[in-house]
Amino acid sequence: MNLSREAVVEGLQRLLGPENVVTDERILKESSIDRFRMFEDIHGVYTQPIPAAVAMAQSTEQVADVLRFANEHGVNVVPRTGRTATEGGLETAVADSVVLDGSGMNEILAIDAYNMQATCQCGVPLQVLEDRLREQGLTTGHSPQSKPLAHMGGLVATRSIGQFSTLYGGIEDMVVGLEAVFPDGTVTRVKNVPRRAVGPDIRHVAIGNEGTLCYITEVTVKLFPYLPENNVFLGYTVTDMKTGFEVLREVMVSGYRPSVARLYDPADGAYHFAHFLPEGLSILIFVAEGPAGVAAATAEGIEAIVAHRSECGKVESRFISTWFADLNLGPDKIATERESILQTGNINRTTEVSGDWGSINAIYENALARIIAEIPDITMAGGHSSHSYINGTNMYFNYFYNVVGCGPEGEVTKYHTPINRIICEETLRFGGAIVHHHGLGKARTPWAREEYGSSFHILETLKGAFDPNGIMNKGTIIPG
Ligand SMILES: Cc1cc2nc3c(=O)[nH]c(=O)nc-3n(C[C@H](O)[C@H](O)[C@H](O)COP(=O)(O)OP(=O)(O)OC[C@H]3O[C@@H](n4cnc5c(N)ncnc54)[C@H](O)[C@@H]3O)c2cc1C
Repeated sequence: MNLSREAVVEGLQRLLGPENVVTDERILKESSIDRFRMFEDIHGVYTQPIPAAVAMAQSTEQVADVLRFANEHGVNVVPRTGRTATEGGLETAVADSVVLDGSGMNEILAIDAYNMQATCQCGVPLQVLEDRLREQGLTTGHSPQSKPLAHMGGLVATRSIGQFSTLYGGIEDMVVGLEAVFPDGTVTRVKNVPRRAVGPDIRHVAIGNEGTLCYITEVTVKLFPYLPENNVFLGYTVTDMKTGFEVLREVMVSGYRPSVARLYDPADGAYHFAHFLPEGLSILIFVAEGPAGVAAATAEGIEAIVAHRSECGKVESRFISTWFADLNLGPDKIATERESILQTGNINRTTEVSGDWGSINAIYENALARIIAEIPDITMAGGHSSHSYINGTNMYFNYFYNVVGCGPEGEVTKYHTPINRIICEETLRFGGAIVHHHGLGKARTPWAREEYGSSFHILETLKGAFDPNGIMNKGTIIPG
């Protein structure tokens, strides 16, 4: 880098005005990390290089100005919007980075109920968009647990997925078109059409780029009718996970598209459903939704499939609907969680992967057995499948450990990274993908080359072409 920290700040102030350049030390420290180092944050210990400034962009032009400036002077830029990243994607790996914050670009630009699509700036919180849409009987169909906090730009940049994905798909199935700015300041727009076959689908250069290729400034997503009155909630106990996976598979390959298809193992099930789930049992959960006839037929089809399984027992549907109503995490639950971690040192982490039907049970069993055998101070280890496809499903490992014998800065190295290593190794061994929806961030980049295999060539070439000076979110996706 050619510029001093002071010169970076002065340059940003010239471009954005001093009121849009944050240099408060506490805010800079908090902006050097994300939820991956939550334990450090809770204790006020910051081990990552502190950024020079947080640049609050208010327009696409300002994003372009900041990127052009950073590119010219070799300054690392970390894009951000909702700040719910969990995998180190927001860590400023290089001293005197610029955190480019688009949360001020928060306008819903159009809701087009005739063509069933909505366009928003990157800093629109999904919850705000959904609330507006539901007033008109519409929904995006996107409902990640972070819906109250995450913004449209980040949701697209991480290739996020929501709780109703089995019907609506992940964000990649919802994005119609978008606007993005590249490191040299070039502003590009992929137009909104239902489908086109004009070479490679270039939306995917931006979708899931995690701030390493371009800055997403605007997105257009599909809309669907919102018909919650037709929802049918189904729950079944199941004696073992292997049978549970078989039931999920049968539902999917029979052609049913419930919005929700989930399977919790006994440990994770006890964490969520202790008030009714008998000890040692797993639980299957389905939601059928859509127009009344479709929802009813989907529910009927699932009931018929489960009826053949002596390993399954019915759960009252009110338990399932009540649980769903309170699943998302907003600021209040995050604050309660932080307080509890500070007092107890007992911390909850997750790692999500995917595999085809033939491998998912082996990934689940082997990774879980190794976590329990190899990691000290585990207080809970389990998992669930929450997103199913015709050819396989995901596994969301959910685990708690009590941090013992290390300071806040040791939590990642003693617990979280070794657990990630086990899960990535076992997933790769059985041919699965090491990240299902949280993004690679910086936490899982050590396994990126193995994950991509020979297709890593395409990734490296994209990075070299669009970000030749390597200023976009160093250390994310591509190992630094
Ligand atoms: C409690 C909780 C629950 C969660 N539940 C889910 C879930 O159900 N499903 C799911 O998929 N994820 C979930 N996540 C993870 C997280 O919410 C998602 O990854 C989300 O998409 C991040 O959006 P954000 O706006 O907060 O992005 P940020 O945290 O601001 O950024 C995330 C990443 O995207 C990059 N980025 C952000 N904005 C832009 C932009 N405009 N252009 C280019 N790059 C950008 C950043 O550099 C970073 O690498 C959860 C997280 C939490 C804390």
